[in-house]
Amino acid sequence: MALWLKYSGDYFQPELLFNDLPVLKGVGFEGVLLPVLKPDSGGLRTRTRLRYFPLLMLMEAAAQAGLKTGLVLDCFHNPILWQNEEFTPPVNSSGVAYLPQSTYFPVCPNNPQSIVYFDRVLAKMNQLPPPDFYYFEHFGYPFFWQNEELDIQLHVPPFCYCPFCITEFSSVVGEIVSTGHQLFEFMPEWLEWRTETMFDMLVNTRDVLANRAKIIVAVPPLSVIDLPFTTGVLPMAYVKEGFWISPSMLYRLKKKSFAWVEDLFEQYAMEITDKRVMPMFDPASAREIQIIRRWEKQFAAIIFHDRQVLTLLK
Ligand SMILES: [Zn+2]
Repeated sequence: MALWLKYSGDYFQPELLFNDLPVLKGVGFEGVLLPVLKPDSGGLRTRTRLRYFPLLMLMEAAAQAGLKTGLVLDCFHNPILWQNEEFTPPVNSSGVAYLPQSTYFPVCPNNPQSIVYFDRVLAKMNQLPPPDFYYFEHFGYPFFWQNEELDIQLHVPPFCYCPFCITEFSSVVGEIVSTGHQLFEFMPEWLEWRTETMFDMLVNTRDVLANRAKIIVAVPPLSVIDLPFTTGVLPMAYVKEGFWISPSMLYRLKKKSFAWVEDLFEQYAMEITDKRVMPMFDPASAREIQIIRRWEKQFAAIIFHDRQVLTLLK
């Protein structure tokens, strides 16, 4: 089984990677996932610039150490856009705007501002030599899985019902859908439209990147069957189309037990058998790593969530 390590942009400094590289190679890692944008990066305003980590230097250093690289693109979570006075936030099914309560600032994938921002990042990617993977974080409709119940009992998806979504959907069904009641009548079409928008966006994005690297889509730790309803992400179709899926099985963050991780591992291994799943995991002990590695044959890789794992592997 391949092991990967993901670095978070919140604390990342190039020196960390340079120091870790010999250790990572020594304990058998296959690759590293690196953040692309610095956390204090500028946004859409013309005078501010997006601030990138020295990606070329980082990728070269990893390659010299014999490691593969992945670049983490944060797709539809964007604190900078929220500071823009003209920004339209995601809206829930009752017409109430999303209210950020933490560090999660979701943006709607159908919001033109989100798309402009994402396109800028993709254009930058095309100026660099391709990594082995792009890791798409927060790809999908807003869903704050860190805070929400994962046992989905909802009748309608929580987000998004913003003007961009409603207008776009109306044009697809050929009828002006403006009220919640009307929309509920169209629920099967609405759910289908949501998954199609995300699927088309993913395929188009691969084209924009000229198919230069493999794409991993990070997904919340929901059951495979709940993902399309909540996020618009279709794991089965993505895998069939040649993408990879990375469910974030961070049990300590969700205050779940290790048994919960084992259940999810089993479910994903059974339901997606193409070896295109790379679960993300935050082990608390060397023993847990040992247990998780028993899934060696079913998964393409295990991604460790944080470099603290190095203290367990030494
Ligand atoms: Zn929307």
